[in-house]
Amino acid sequence: MTTTISHAEDLNLHHIVKQQYDRAVPFADDLDGWRGIAQWLFEPDRIIEVTMPVRLDDGYVHIFRGYRVLHSTVRGPGKGGIRFHPEAGADEVKALATWMSWKCALVDVPFGGAKGGVVCDPHALSNGEKERITRRFTTALGDTIGPFTDIPAPDLYTDSQTMAWIYDTYTMMHPGQATLPVVTGKPVELGGVAARSGATAQGVFYVTEHFLQIGGIPGLEKLDGANVVVQGFGNAGRHAARIFRQAGANVIGVSDSKGGTVDLSGLDVTAIEHHKDEAGTVSTYPDGETVEPGAILEVPCDILVPAALENQITTANAERIDARLIVEAANGPITPEADIVLSQRGIKVLPDILANAGGVVVSYFEWAQNIENQRWEDNDVLEKLRRRMRRATEVVVTKRAGMLDGLDSYRSRWGRAVGHEQPIQLPDLRTAAQTVAIGRCRDAALQRGVWP
Ligand code: NAD
Repeated sequence: MTTTISHAEDLNLHHIVKQQYDRAVPFADDLDGWRGIAQWLFEPDRIIEVTMPVRLDDGYVHIFRGYRVLHSTVRGPGKGGIRFHPEAGADEVKALATWMSWKCALVDVPFGGAKGGVVCDPHALSNGEKERITRRFTTALGDTIGPFTDIPAPDLYTDSQTMAWIYDTYTMMHPGQATLPVVTGKPVELGGVAARSGATAQGVFYVTEHFLQIGGIPGLEKLDGANVVVQGFGNAGRHAARIFRQAGANVIGVSDSKGGTVDLSGLDVTAIEHHKDEAGTVSTYPDGETVEPGAILEVPCDILVPAALENQITTANAERIDARLIVEAANGPITPEADIVLSQRGIKVLPDILANAGGVVVSYFEWAQNIENQRWEDNDVLEKLRRRMRRATEVVVTKRAGMLDGLDSYRSRWGRAVGHEQPIQLPDLRTAAQTVAIGRCRDAALQRGVWP
């Protein structure tokens, strides 16, 4: 079926998060009496915006802007990454913090949602400049972050080194205190978990593998032999390409910000990793066909893994996506209107709050180990991650089946709740995942009560 959407699509991430929320709310249990709570659950608890002077290597003092949003603490302290990106902004960070709340609830880790961003071009900064920005940002956030209040982690263009600088700065501000759990994603030598750097991709893999095993895509029961395309070759995408290949998948296309490389008979992922380390991009890999950054998404495949940025699949290209399953390693790569197009075309989507939750699960393990002064075995970490990701996948699939079965009663219940007939969207896996997550946040909020 062809869907034509003529108006310009709203790509504001916070508006997108609200649209997704509005699709899930009618499916929540016990609607009556919690509509005020529903509004409260959606609004961020706290938004911090800071202005930071930082001296660059050439002596010039540049003013950087940074954000930290604490979306919800109903299920525990805030948890979420910090990104360095030229387009980071308040609405984007609010949206990402909200997704973190749903993600933590869905995989049942005892955190709320948070996110941070610094507006900068990481490609144009030296290591020393990044360190000064990080330390200044940490100082500016002060005691709004902390082991039991809000715990940052890596995200776009930040890594374990960034986390080490945050930990060091925070510790200097709190001498004599045990502050290791203030950030996760730290180097192993500083209480980090070896599996953390690959954890997001490992979780992407566990969710995909299990979804196929339980019949999510008829005719595609396993990864072995499946054709996979990965957009983005950073923390999430690079590990995903390697792990999918190790599971026997044919990785036929990968890309980064400069472009992609495609070989329909299968790429040598290890050789591409070496090429990326040497050349700084996968797009010039000599044994593949070079494609423009956007074109990678349209390569025909079984499984497409967007692992770069948000708003990559929109109404502008959703009709041209030629995959059976999309697994969102990135946060928010598909717009709500593109979701409808994909759903009508029979393309299933394993949503971000499920698919990429492996990072926060292993972050939680790191945090728990730091508090206990323990170090778990790597195999234990991966096995615990695997079990949690499989359980969450089953919960989402079962929830969606229940939502589809009870669609008529949800429709009439929702009509009564809002006082008039109102259509509700046919639920996809995203709406099912959000319904589970929002329900858990709602239950925690109601059990705690509204104070005073
Ligand atoms: P990263 O900085 O390590 O890598 C980002 C990659 O995306 C780079 O390879 C970059 O070249 C590529 N990229 C940027 N613009 C692109 C474009 N237009 N087309 C193709 N590739 C492009 O970041 P990351 O940590 O891998 O994060 C990627 C996504 O995964 C983000 O949406 C992030 O929020 C999400 N995520 C990351 C984690 C984590 O643990 N790192 C956890 C959950 C979600």
